[in-house]
Amino acid sequence: MTLRLYNTLTRRIEPFEPLHPGRVALYTCGPTVYNYAHIGNFRTFLFEDLLHRWLQASGYDVFHIMNLTDVDDKTIGHATAAGKSLRQYVEPYIEAFHEDRKYLRIEDASVYPRATDHIPAMVGLVEKLLSQGIAYRGEDGSVYFSIARFPAYGRLSQLENRELKAGASERVSTDEYSKEDVRDFALWKAPGPSDETVGAVWDAPFGRGRPGWHLECSAMALHLIRERWGVEVLDIHAGGVDLIFPHHEDEIAQSCAFTGREEFARVWMHGEFLKTGGEKMSKRFGNITTPRDLREDGVDAGAIRLLMFQVHYRQQFDLTDQGLQSAQEGSRRLGEFQNRLLERRAAADAPAFEEAAERLDRELTGALDDDLNAPRAVAAMFAFVTAGNAALDAGQQAGPRAAAAWERAEGVLGVTSQVRVMKVTQRAEAGAAQEIAELSPTPPSDALEAERWAREWALRRARHKSARNYAEADRIRTLLGGHGFHIRDSKDGSIEVVRTGVAR
Ligand SMILES: [Zn+2]
Repeated sequence: MTLRLYNTLTRRIEPFEPLHPGRVALYTCGPTVYNYAHIGNFRTFLFEDLLHRWLQASGYDVFHIMNLTDVDDKTIGHATAAGKSLRQYVEPYIEAFHEDRKYLRIEDASVYPRATDHIPAMVGLVEKLLSQGIAYRGEDGSVYFSIARFPAYGRLSQLENRELKAGASERVSTDEYSKEDVRDFALWKAPGPSDETVGAVWDAPFGRGRPGWHLECSAMALHLIRERWGVEVLDIHAGGVDLIFPHHEDEIAQSCAFTGREEFARVWMHGEFLKTGGEKMSKRFGNITTPRDLREDGVDAGAIRLLMFQVHYRQQFDLTDQGLQSAQEGSRRLGEFQNRLLERRAAADAPAFEEAAERLDRELTGALDDDLNAPRAVAAMFAFVTAGNAALDAGQQAGPRAAAAWERAEGVLGVTSQVRVMKVTQRAEAGAAQEIAELSPTPPSDALEAERWAREWALRRARHKSARNYAEADRIRTLLGGHGFHIRDSKDGSIEVVRTGVAR
């Protein structure tokens, strides 16, 4: 079986065939760096990370471009309000984006071009479209793309002319009277007063101004793939579904008009929304969770990845506390099994492990080759855990074959929590616990100190439990859970504290 992907352009799942065997030019629309990206944005970036990892695991040389939009209406508006230059304003958000991405185990793209570093490529693209008569200068000094002169417009979104007009005029703009047609979009925007103040204006032969958002992606993608491989067509272009129209439609129009080719990208892939309480997560609605919120709550990134990958990227899903909690439990289960599997590794695999490893390899490949069916891939990992635990309980040994199959699956999905299990012995530590009268409800920042802190609380809980003070015992369990410590009472009467989550 070969990789098959759903192509928005054809609305079909098709066998993936790159332009040149063995290599893939991948472009994914990155964040607009005016604020912290939220977990809904990261759902898209995680789907793209899975795509990136699976292409690599399948043997492709992947050239992955993810842009950073550091000049547009939002970044300029926020920089103006903050009294900073554009460059000063976006810098911390670029840093934050990379921090969040690393926390979520999102692998590095090959390049992260910033729009403001590629102005000459954008100017060149506009010049050519002007010389071809596909772009024109409006009365307001902006340059527009003439959709009437590009008949293939609308192919990706499959919208009728009427809908395109309605979509275009929805975005209330002051340029309404400068355009020849309401559908036309700005390639280059004449400077407004705050554009000059924040340093978001550049010289161009067709007048001072700044690039439009759509232009940024086309110009950088074409410039970078030409530079890298001398090509003008992307193998895969991905983004969130909200980018299909107008953003990706406009990217296609500009790029194809510029290169004279029929295609800008061979495959277009789009990730569905993450919702909260039935609403699309967005800054406008205020229903935002950011990766940093989850990180501060001690949530292991493996749990977030598991939560996202339990749903196919083309399906919407609702983020709930309950969903996150069960993903944390699942990810912890994977982590505990991983410890068990790798710690007791033998020189050779028992037949049960040979068989389970073979099945995991086969099912992982089958699932991900089938339009990145992550839910099935994750299910294959859990099936391996069930079979593996049973085999280990029966005294069978896991060896290099089982470890390799596990590491391959985890290497692509990254859904396993880092888990540390600490035994707490009641008798030995009871004296020490009584010495500390006041115990802080928040753990110390040092990782080892934090573990001692958790043990103390676990002992206090045990005492409350034996005194039948269950309400207090439950309160302590919840308190520890909120900081990534999970208490477990073993059958033999001992207590285990299971730690997941990032070091604080
Ligand atoms: Zn884009």
